[in-house]
Order: sequence, then structure tokens, then C-alpha cells
Amino acid sequence: MCTKAVTPSPLVVGGSRAVAASIATSLARFGEPALAFAASRGIRVVPLGGSQRYRDVSASLRRLGVDVDAWPVPPAGLFVVEERTVYLRSASPMTVAHEFGHALDCALGGGVYRSGYDREIRNAFANARDFVTPYAATGLDEYFAECMRAFVGVNDPHSPWPSATRERLRSVDPPIAAYIEELFARAFVDP
Ligand SMILES: [Zn+2]
Repeated sequence: MCTKAVTPSPLVVGGSRAVAASIATSLARFGEPALAFAASRGIRVVPLGGSQRYRDVSASLRRLGVDVDAWPVPPAGLFVVEERTVYLRSASPMTVAHEFGHALDCALGGGVYRSGYDREIRNAFANARDFVTPYAATGLDEYFAECMRAFVGVNDPHSPWPSATRERLRSVDPPIAAYIEELFARAFVDP
């Protein structure tokens, strides 16, 4: 018999033991330095309970009147910048990795998205001829989150999009692949 113990992640707050373990497994793909970097910048990951809505758990969303719960299909996850918190309605690996990409963007920017002002990221986005997934083309923040997800290679089997992998990222968009490689090699290791 082979059992693999999953170390609970200190980033994950709440959720059942099984859900927290599943989220921790996806987060582990980012590696310890990136996780420690996020933790040191106050990032949290909060799974919603069965009957909880986003507005029940996020004071910012309530105050801002952002009623994502009323959308025809509420998002599987979202990141609230001013709370530095990932909220998850789904713990699917792809959702966890995408939202954590936003969290790292915010941690790197010291509370705002670095992708919003960083010239290298903006240039890579502006000059991109192809994108690692269609969603990466929809804005700078989504571009960064999807490229981060590709770099750590976390996918859901049923996704209709091309599998987001480090190899695919390097082949479709070498400049952002090199930028992210540098983050993992240096910025997260020696912040
Ligand atoms: Zn997103």
C-alpha cells in the first residue's frame, strides 16, 4: 500500500481536511520558496464552505458592492487584492493555480498587481503573437496568472483549452517564460 501524506499548507485557512489537502497539493507545485514568499506578504487561501457565498466571506466585496454571487455562473475562484486573499468555490487544481498566480502578482507588487506596472510584463503582453491559453489574452492580470499556471504546469483534464505547460509557455511566449523563470530562480528564493 502506498500512502502519501500531504503536509497542510499554512496559507490555507479553513475548509475541510480533504479540501485543504487538495488545495495544498496544487499549491505545492509552485515550490516552497514561492509559497514562503506569498506567506510573508500576507497571502491567504480561503475555500468557501458548502453554503457560503463570496459576500459571506469577503468584507471588501460586500463594501464595494461587487455581487459576484449573483452572476449566472459565479466564478470558481477569485482573488481580492485589498484582502490579499484567494477565495475558492472550487478546489480544482486549475482554479487553485490560476488564482494563486494572481496572489503572487499582488505579493510581488507589494499589494497591487505587479503586472499592472512592470514594463517587462507589459511589453511581453503587448508583443505577444500567441498566448498560452485563450484566457491569457484577456488582460494583463489574466496573462500573468495563466503564464504562472503554465510555468508550474497545473491543468484540469476536462479543460477545453490547450494544456498549459512550461514547454508550451517557452514555445509560444519566450520573453514571459524567461521573466517567470527568473522569479522562481531569484525573486522568490532571495526576496
Ligand atoms: Zn484570473
